[in-house]
Amino acid sequence: MPLPFGTFDRDGRLLAANLAFADLLSIPNHMLSGKTVWEIMPRREAQLLKKGLEKVSVNKKTITIEEYRPSIDHGRYYRMILFPISSPADEKDIFGLLSIDISEQKMSKEKIRESKERIEAIFNSVQSGIMLVDWESYQILDVNPAACKLIGLSHDEIVGHTCRNFVCSPKNNKCPLEDKYPSATGKELMTNSEQTLIQASGKKITVLKTVKTIIIEGKKCLLESFVDISGQKRQQTQLKRMYSKLKKLNINLEKEIAFANEMAIEAEKANIAKSEFLANMSHEIRTPLNGITGMVGLLLDTGLNRQQQEYAETIIQSSNTLLDVINTVLDYTNLETESVKPGNIEFNLIDLVLHVSEIIKIKAQRKGLRFTHTVTPGVPLLFTGDPEYLRQILVNLGSNAVKFTEKGTVSLTVTVTPEKAGRRKMLRFSVLDTGIGIPKDTQDFIFKKFTQVDASSTRKYGGIGLGLTISKRLVELMGGEIGLKSEPEKGSEFWFTVPFTSLECQQPQSIAESYDNTCPPPQKAKQQPETDGNTETTILVVEDNLINQRVAVALLRKMGYSTDTAKNGAEAIKALQKNDYNLVFMDIQMPEMDGLEATRQIRSSTSDSIDPDITIIAMTAHALKEDRDKCFDAGMDDYISKPLSPDALSDLLKRWLP
Ligand code: ADP
Repeated sequence: MPLPFGTFDRDGRLLAANLAFADLLSIPNHMLSGKTVWEIMPRREAQLLKKGLEKVSVNKKTITIEEYRPSIDHGRYYRMILFPISSPADEKDIFGLLSIDISEQKMSKEKIRESKERIEAIFNSVQSGIMLVDWESYQILDVNPAACKLIGLSHDEIVGHTCRNFVCSPKNNKCPLEDKYPSATGKELMTNSEQTLIQASGKKITVLKTVKTIIIEGKKCLLESFVDISGQKRQQTQLKRMYSKLKKLNINLEKEIAFANEMAIEAEKANIAKSEFLANMSHEIRTPLNGITGMVGLLLDTGLNRQQQEYAETIIQSSNTLLDVINTVLDYTNLETESVKPGNIEFNLIDLVLHVSEIIKIKAQRKGLRFTHTVTPGVPLLFTGDPEYLRQILVNLGSNAVKFTEKGTVSLTVTVTPEKAGRRKMLRFSVLDTGIGIPKDTQDFIFKKFTQVDASSTRKYGGIGLGLTISKRLVELMGGEIGLKSEPEKGSEFWFTVPFTSLECQQPQSIAESYDNTCPPPQKAKQQPETDGNTETTILVVEDNLINQRVAVALLRKMGYSTDTAKNGAEAIKALQKNDYNLVFMDIQMPEMDGLEATRQIRSSTSDSIDPDITIIAMTAHALKEDRDKCFDAGMDDYISKPLSPDALSDLLKRWLP
């Protein structure tokens, strides 16, 4: 294909053109001749050509016009070569115009420019330091702003120097690249190698460096890039330090755990020793106690008079109470050891419920309470399990219900949980009362050992706070659960569930019985004076426990004193206001108002009817020194320990009642 070619006169008129030129202008060839540049080309191109023609006609030399676009439609760029063609015949100047398509050339130039710009932008903005280093001389050819910043010098202060002035420790005085790859060519020479960068201030920081070889303008260069990892390094060192600290702590912790384990073993041993001690002690107490009750039992059959009979019965009652306490402690101690297991014998549930009901019924009757028991239809009769455990729990819960109820009803109900099919039955026992109830905040702790809702010295109900702990342990040993619902002033429901194996089909009938006992609680026998001597001296005995009261009164009367009784501090103050007494025996722990408070009120009394200096002797079961100090602090004159011994009592009275 021939190059586009055309001839023009000096004024810019087209004289002749080849087909390629007509194509280039997108005008048919026959329409071209005689046309001026203005008619066949865009304005800019026409002007350029016109000026070129003038120049060539003056200089008579060839000129080139770059990036010429004779036709916009074409969208291509040309190099126009304009030269003179002289015709001596008519002396008219003719000019030739040759067009060379330079579009591809221009495009690849453009591309090169763009990619150079892109590389420059990356080079200048990237956060890693980049250096271009001469392969042979190790001289820095270029450096990016990030590298300048890391080193702390300007571009010009770095370029031209040897790279190892700035990166890689001069201590080695050898390039790590030479060391590693003496004959490396055109490849990656170093990847993420930890090197030292020397800052302008002389400070050394750790960088991670990668080096590649590249060819730039035919010259072999090293492209070194590096990032500052001194922060990570510091963190790493800190982590290492922390790790070694943690390691030490861990070792200490392990030692402490070992020590704690040893202590736990010691504590376990001590606990076993304590349990053994308690078991021995209760046994040692129980044995003589049995002797006492047994012998007094025999004594009762030897024709005693009414008074002797009463004393002997009091001994038996007191011994039985003590026996109950000892038994509870012993039960608890036994249950604390891991080895206990519930028995597995055959028993009749109804018989057991009736037996327990009998015991609770008697207690309820004494307080004038209604008692009911119900075994709902569908509950089987015969089971295997531990009836003794079951009996003990029911008696504990039933006794508590009676103890903490002043009026209303106590009821025992047995149901079977319906979802348990087959021989394995889940029985649910419930003991409901209309008593004082338990505040919400105490309900969670009530099954813990020695816990009582009212632990004050004015508490009204006796007990050692182990009954529920024992019941819970027994229920759990049998694989069941225990719980309560209670509202203060309204009453409580203590319930427990226990799985038992039934031995037969369902029991056809339910039992339900209620005992409505409206008898008032037993009245306190009116005290008759039984003096046999010094009746002018009257002593007030303040004691809430009727048996203790009776013992004190009997002993004093036997010694010839007149006595009056009061069952708490408030009653004592009332009695002192009404009558004259020579001496007061004051119990410490009593409901409503305790002995300490009563003494304080007597001592500070300004009323004419009370002698604030009356002799007050504490009767205390607390043997500890701090308890005695409390008595003296409250204003008491002396104390005597319970149980009262006749000799000690007589000595004391001799001292205070001359
Ligand atoms: P104790 O009766 O010997 O003090 P328990 O372990 O049997 O010991 O009971 C702990 C405490 O729980 C009691 O002192 C009482 O405060 C409370 N409690 C138990 N049963 C009842 C009840 N039915 N109603 C109200 N309070 C109760």
